[in-house]
Amino acid sequence: MKFDKFTIIAGPCAVESEEQVISTAKFLIDKGIKIMRGGAYKPRTSPEDFQGLKEKGLEILQKAKNETGIQIITEVLDPRDVEKVSAVADILQIGARNMQNFVLLTEAGKTKMPVMLKRGMSATMDEWIKAAKYIEKEGGQVIFCERGIRTFETKTRNTLDISTVPIIKSETNSLIFIDPSHAAGRKDLIIPLSKAAKAIGADGIIVEIHPNPDKALCDGKQSLTFSEFENLLKELK
Ligand code: PEP
Ligand code: MN
Repeated sequence: MKFDKFTIIAGPCAVESEEQVISTAKFLIDKGIKIMRGGAYKPRTSPEDFQGLKEKGLEILQKAKNETGIQIITEVLDPRDVEKVSAVADILQIGARNMQNFVLLTEAGKTKMPVMLKRGMSATMDEWIKAAKYIEKEGGQVIFCERGIRTFETKTRNTLDISTVPIIKSETNSLIFIDPSHAAGRKDLIIPLSKAAKAIGADGIIVEIHPNPDKALCDGKQSLTFSEFENLLKELK
């Protein structure tokens, strides 16, 4: 898979409906964005929260691909789902909560696909780099993604550890992305953190957007509207 010098990936936290996903994909293609995110399987802190549309969500992502040609990154939560998720995804996403799910890492690696490995919320960089080796050992290509770590700070959802970028760059041959959305947990920080990502030499960002963030089933507070996302693109130029 080919990436731009600074690749911007965007899309909803979760796949919620066909209309939401297709409108987002069309908007992104129109803006020159080639990769869309969106979870069909959602790792939620509470079992009472929306868990994703699962297979139906994968079908919607496939439809968005067919209709617009956009490429898809989507999370796989369970080793038993790797086959069906990888049939739709161009990049597999492994979430922070599964960074050390070694069975899942191994199965994802066997696909030989690009796998975005998010940093565990309390994982050291060494633990993260070692986890990545489980994927690489099987032939998968790791893309690291820093999404903030848990600290004592409460103003933000997590604390973006920007120092991961030069360290991952010097210690591995892999790409590293920044996820300002999960790092901040609030949309007013997305533009400044994205600029920091670009300035420090990250390979890209992955950002949450939603046609109507107030109605989002997941992570609405940190999701940009389409026009806010256009502003982000302008600010990054
Ligand atoms: C996500 O990307 O929607 C997500 C759940 O992220 P993380 O695994 O970083 O919490
Ligand atoms: Mn999210």
